[in-house]
Amino acid sequence: MRYRSTRGGFSGVTSSEAIKMGIAPDGGLFVPEDDVTVDLKFIENLVSDNYRQRAEKILSFFLTDFDRAELEECVKKAYGNNFSSPEVTPLVHLHEHLHMLELWHGPTCAFKDMALQILPHFMVKAIKKTGENSKIVILTATSGDTGKAALEGFADVDGTYIIVFYPNGGVSEIQRLQMVTQTGKNTNVIAVNGNFDDTQSGVKKIFNDKNICDKIQDKGFRFSSANSINWGRLVPQIVYYFSAYADLLKDKIIEPGEKINFVVPTGNFGNILAAWYAMKMGLPVNRLICASNENNILTDFIITGTYDRRREFHKTLSPSMDILISSNLERLLFELGGKDAGLIRGYMNDLNEKGYYTVNKTIKGKIQEIFWGGYSSDNETLACIRSVYKDYGYVLDTHTAVAMDVYDKYVIYSGDLTQTVIVSTASPFKFSGSVAKALFGDETEGLDEFGLLRLLSEKTGWEIPKGLKDLDRKEILHKTVCEKDEMGDVVLNILNS
Ligand SMILES: *Cc1c(COP(=O)(O)O)cnc(C)c1O
Repeated sequence: MRYRSTRGGFSGVTSSEAIKMGIAPDGGLFVPEDDVTVDLKFIENLVSDNYRQRAEKILSFFLTDFDRAELEECVKKAYGNNFSSPEVTPLVHLHEHLHMLELWHGPTCAFKDMALQILPHFMVKAIKKTGENSKIVILTATSGDTGKAALEGFADVDGTYIIVFYPNGGVSEIQRLQMVTQTGKNTNVIAVNGNFDDTQSGVKKIFNDKNICDKIQDKGFRFSSANSINWGRLVPQIVYYFSAYADLLKDKIIEPGEKINFVVPTGNFGNILAAWYAMKMGLPVNRLICASNENNILTDFIITGTYDRRREFHKTLSPSMDILISSNLERLLFELGGKDAGLIRGYMNDLNEKGYYTVNKTIKGKIQEIFWGGYSSDNETLACIRSVYKDYGYVLDTHTAVAMDVYDKYVIYSGDLTQTVIVSTASPFKFSGSVAKALFGDETEGLDEFGLLRLLSEKTGWEIPKGLKDLDRKEILHKTVCEKDEMGDVVLNILNS
């Protein structure tokens, strides 16, 4: 399998090269050149496999310059004891046609671990395969969960440095503490005075700054990205859609070939794009339901075909979805637009220069055939956390609650009672402030983040995850704060020292 850029500048790129580069040098994203398809037999055979075996099979279609033993090694290191569930991604049945795919049993308690526990192992092998002599500098902007997951994955990985920028005040206190207490001699964490989009634009600017890139190259470094624009992050996410389907077959909830829905709480469009690739490969999917918070740019896009970022940015209770530029959408548009790089360059230019673009009728039609979009306000999200706890004793985090609320809206709109999987992206403890307040109101008064964790655990009987329990006793190791326009200098300083 070879990869090409959505902007047309590169083709014939191996998966190791694509993973090492992260973003294509023409500003585009790498996509597979050929389609991968599987038959029903392949899916039925997954039923008796464990998660690691399922992962190995699916990764092998896309990462063809990694041999089977290498993939096995990566998978083994990534999905082992570091996950608190032996099933890795357990599927919990909420009621007869609704199921929760829990993607948060990894070390940082959010679904980003699914990709970022394995990406560093791909990266180390990709560096070797491509004969790379420079050290790789992973540069990442985070709205909260990516940063910690990337730090945890790359800490003390040979031949790599990791620099994470997060919006100052734009992440939860637990997320902040998870990052600023990160150990590892190759780790750096910096707060930026700005919101997530400012932070992400700042990182993109550094990648495209020839002056900075030349300077670091002289010192023996080159940049790569651990954001979900890296194909090496996207491909491990395809696995759990197949895995969920296999588990529904295993539990005799669906018949082989029966179509199901997935509801995905969406920000950068990475997770739901992986679902789309799974569907394109032949996974029987009825609808992909794209759930947003009040930053509902994708809801509008799916309805109108116009992606318009000229709108107010909202800070919500689901901060990992507070995003106005969903980078991975570019891959979907490329795939649905007949792989026409010129078309994509036009849209992305429009987005840059005018602040919006409108897709053609063909693309809009295809999107509406597959996707349904909806959004949830903060109050609706909190009400959903309360009602699901009351009805099922199940505790949702704020992001997963957005998905659940949008699913309810979808059912009211469509009457569709197809078997549905809600993609559950974070442990409720990671957002314990909002969740505890939603469930236990007045009793939360005067409690700090850690008091809230304990209250939530005592009241619900759910155990506090290992990674969050002792955060208040860890030393703060990263204290740098910078302005938006200083991010490049900060990077140069780190690599000069
Ligand atoms: C990152 C994240 C999302 C959004 O996923 P995308 O791939 O960016 O669409 C949703 N929920 C949580 C908890 C996250 O960390």
